[in-house]
Amino acid sequence: MDVMPETQTLRPVSLEAKNPFELRVGLSAKVPESEVRAALASGDMGFLHSFTTGSTVDGPGIRVVAWTSGCMFRCQYCHNPDTWNMGNGIPVTFEKAAEELSKYRFGLKLMSGGFTLSGGEPLMQHRFAVKLFTAAQAMGIHTALDTNGYFGYRLTDEDLEKVDLVLLDIKAFDPERHRQVTGMDVDAVLRFAKRLSARRKPVWLRFVLVPGLTDDQYDIAKIAGFASGLGNIERVDVLPFHQMGRFKWKQLNLPYPLEDVEPPSQEVVQRVLAQFRAVGLKAV
Ligand code: SF4
Repeated sequence: MDVMPETQTLRPVSLEAKNPFELRVGLSAKVPESEVRAALASGDMGFLHSFTTGSTVDGPGIRVVAWTSGCMFRCQYCHNPDTWNMGNGIPVTFEKAAEELSKYRFGLKLMSGGFTLSGGEPLMQHRFAVKLFTAAQAMGIHTALDTNGYFGYRLTDEDLEKVDLVLLDIKAFDPERHRQVTGMDVDAVLRFAKRLSARRKPVWLRFVLVPGLTDDQYDIAKIAGFASGLGNIERVDVLPFHQMGRFKWKQLNLPYPLEDVEPPSQEVVQRVLAQFRAVGLKAV
């Protein structure tokens, strides 16, 4: 689907992308601030980096993933820093996004897959997110929210019913380390994790393993201990750091703190998996 924002004169940009590693900037830069605010308040329009299809890692089965733009974190290892700024996304009406999703409704059911909203941080646009999840569920499509959890409080209990699975990132446990990794506090993330636990919402916990930054065994032991006490963690995805996003930091002229960091060794990955498994969690 090509989208030409009414308020822009840019060439049309395809909402579909092969993967979220395509660099996209300034695609809604000309949308007036008042329209952005109205869109966020109503959820009638969202700002998307892209739609991708065929993911097997963003929830169960084969997934269609909508990647939102806008994020309040500044993770040192972020591989999509072009999604930090909401103005880099394509403005898409709710109707268009739902229409795009409906193309895949039968295929997704056949493949026991579903729809995942990722980012950026989808809850920067929580009203749009809830509307899309509601539409997806009405089409019989399984829904997953991939979130850093910071704005989890924005979702009402009723909103949460529209989400079948939460992919929750816990980036670090120690408050100081979390601030170092993301620039933001960890408390709101852990509060959201507890709320999901209280509501027995299925969660896949995601942890990005970065040598020298998030690989401290004691901090990981704290995350594992916390997660094992929640009772709703279906699995833990240990995601080894990679450098696929390095070119984006360069092209955006951002100082990249992990320029010379290598992916973790297999030995370290196995150690971290073992730490989660040791407390009874399924870690992959
Ligand atoms: S939460 Fe995700 S999108 Fe936001 S900065 Fe961190 S890695 Fe990037």
